[in-house]
Amino acid sequence: MSLGQDMTVERESQLIALMEWSQNFLFTLIAHDKSFCPLSNSAFGLWLRHRAIMLFENTPELDCLIQKSSEFDQVLLPEAKRINAITQQAYTLKFQAAVQELKYLLTTLFQRVQGLERGIDPLTSLLNRRFLPTILSREVSAASHDQSALSIVMLDIDHFKNINDTYGHPGGDRVLKQVAERIQNTVRPSDFLFRYGGEEFLIILTEIDGLAALKIAERLRETIENVPFIMPDETQLTVTASLGVANYDGHPDPDVLISNADRALYKAKQNGRNQVAKN
Ligand code: GH3
Ligand code: MG
Ligand code: MG
Repeated sequence: MSLGQDMTVERESQLIALMEWSQNFLFTLIAHDKSFCPLSNSAFGLWLRHRAIMLFENTPELDCLIQKSSEFDQVLLPEAKRINAITQQAYTLKFQAAVQELKYLLTTLFQRVQGLERGIDPLTSLLNRRFLPTILSREVSAASHDQSALSIVMLDIDHFKNINDTYGHPGGDRVLKQVAERIQNTVRPSDFLFRYGGEEFLIILTEIDGLAALKIAERLRETIENVPFIMPDETQLTVTASLGVANYDGHPDPDVLISNADRALYKAKQNGRNQVAKN
């Protein structure tokens, strides 16, 4: 994974590369020189195109970093060439905010990979997918052996993209963290909680049958909808989620349980979101 280099060193050297580029950009701006170096031509841009793609493959954080970096060259660079004495201050603030966002995304990207290795999602502190196959197989075998019930819930935040678009990535992250906390406070300590994907959570409810699982899923839905989320700008936001429930039916393949929950979640989305559906 680390391509022969310590990931902490790799992260620090890219943060420095990004800062060097942004400083040079600002010097060029102040000197009223128009020869700006595009971010894609900088040491950081080169790293992003080659090593980052190898290290992080198609993680959503990398896609986002690539997207935000190309916005620099497509939007902020042409704008810098049109700056005058009046617009310079506002531009500088906007430029610095955009650099801050890149630094944030870069740090998150590394945290994600380091967390992956430990099996923990760094943002929510829930389990990540790494140990899901092992844990679910073990629970399916136990349910089969003990003839006990087992249910899983797949939860996906509704219209999460809009939250990111309105409040930025840090705002979206805050919602993810709080949703994780609310799930944790609703289920029993003996259940397993995973951050399954970007804004998708998977909950393994041990020794819980179909009816009880539906009740728990409904309670989860309510804990998200009923209390507004406090956003970074102090405004309150109502968030909803859709949930799919599946019960162990004797099939030995754990993936069947997951695809049943997935199908139920799809049904909940199709039926208008903010609801629970079962397989
Ligand atoms: P739907 O109601 O159909 O689920 O719509 P949606 O907008 O929630 O779903 P979609 O899959 O279109 O968008 C999910 C978004 O989640 C896109 C992605 O950028 C964002 N995302 C994924 N991981 C993270 C993360 O770690 N942090 C933040 N802030 N956003 C993330
Ligand atoms: Mg969603
Ligand atoms: Mg989703």
